[in-house]
Amino acid sequence: MHSQLLYRKCIVCGVKKPRKNMYRLVISNSEQCVVDRVGNLQGRGAYLCDDSKCKASTQLVKRAKYALRTHVELENSEDLKLLR
Ligand SMILES: [Zn+2]
Repeated sequence: MHSQLLYRKCIVCGVKKPRKNMYRLVISNSEQCVVDRVGNLQGRGAYLCDDSKCKASTQLVKRAKYALRTHVELENSEDLKLLR
C-alpha cells in the first residue's frame, strides 16, 4: 500500500513539499488566522513548510495575508506566534 503524496508550495520559500509536512493556515469564522491541525477546516488555505527559517520569516505575515486574500490582520495571530 502506498498513499498518494499531495505536494503543496510553501508561501515563504516557494518549495513544494508533501502536505503532511506542512502547516495549513486558514482564516477561522472568528476572523483569526489559525493553523489547521486536523486538515479539514473550511476555506482558502495557505501552506507553510516546517523549516524553522520559514516559520520565523519576517515575510510570513505578509505572504500569508496575500495568499489567504484576507483583510484580517495576522500580526496578532496566536497560532502564528506559536510556530515561531
Ligand atoms: Zn518554506
